[in-house]
Amino acid sequence: MREFPLVDPGPGEVLVRITMSTICRSDIHSYEGKRPNPCPGILGHEIIGIIEQIGDRVGADMRGSVLEPGDRVTWTEYFFDGECWHRDVLDMPQKCPGIRKYGHDLATEPPHFLGGFAEYCYIQPGTGILKLPDELSDEEATPLNCGVATMVSVTEAAGIDMGDTVVVQGLGLLGLYGCAMAKARGARLVIGLDAVPPRLETARRFGADEVLNVEQVETTTLIEQVRSFCPPDGADVVVEVCGVPGVIPAGLEMLRTGGCYVLGGLVNPDADVTLDANVLLRKWITLKGIHNYHPRHLIQALDFVMGNRHRFPFKDIVDSRFALNELDEAFRRASERSVLRAAIVP
Ligand SMILES: [Zn+2]
Repeated sequence: MREFPLVDPGPGEVLVRITMSTICRSDIHSYEGKRPNPCPGILGHEIIGIIEQIGDRVGADMRGSVLEPGDRVTWTEYFFDGECWHRDVLDMPQKCPGIRKYGHDLATEPPHFLGGFAEYCYIQPGTGILKLPDELSDEEATPLNCGVATMVSVTEAAGIDMGDTVVVQGLGLLGLYGCAMAKARGARLVIGLDAVPPRLETARRFGADEVLNVEQVETTTLIEQVRSFCPPDGADVVVEVCGVPGVIPAGLEMLRTGGCYVLGGLVNPDADVTLDANVLLRKWITLKGIHNYHPRHLIQALDFVMGNRHRFPFKDIVDSRFALNELDEAFRRASERSVLRAAIVP
């Protein structure tokens, strides 16, 4: 545990007192050294907090509400302040070269506080800020700015339509929200796949109509079972959110001709996989990769959770709380998957 001085927020900055941050799978990869991160750093990018102090030239939140000290807010997990062709021409602000993300900086350099596992965070210029409604619990609100917004982006890219059949490969936080969003977007049937039995059960409460344990059957049988649920030709959409490249060939086999496959979980490099690309051609497959999200997806994530929080038990996903000095324990539990989403409460 280290201490650094707080200073007044600079122009465009907002100082927030963190009320909760959750451990995302990518934090675990960094913590375990599988992903380069400057050290010592403050990990954590799924963060919410209460505005303590506002710097000059800070505008309203993304919906136009004036920001004031005492407001509880979430904000985009990334920030970029400058000219950007990807943002202005392609409408892909999340892919601006030089974009920075919270939880990815050296803590020894000012302003020190740019990550979630700390008492404070300085929201930087070029961040989309969003006020949180009082009704929403911290547990429901904290994963909004990474997992939930990303899943809005993924399910939008999948083009899920009324009456579609949707397969979700992996039932962690992304997958559970994926099941719920697929239903909310009008899917007729949602099939959840995972190897962890409690997650399969949980998925049913998040809208999965059928769940299959991928470790209990041969892959060919699994593909047959999924296809039998989606007559006459297989699923309209398959979404990968398990982070395991080896599941892609099976996922493609589950699709109908003309179906869409979206990659949402393969966030690490070297995700090599061997597949018969002729399948893509022959079956008219649309293959999409989705990384991060547009600021509008954060607004939609909030609205989706507000509109469906009585239909799906979002509050149960963040199922454990740890203090800052219990961070190692929290990471251990999150890594071994004995908790679904670990929350750090400073
Ligand atoms: Zn994340």
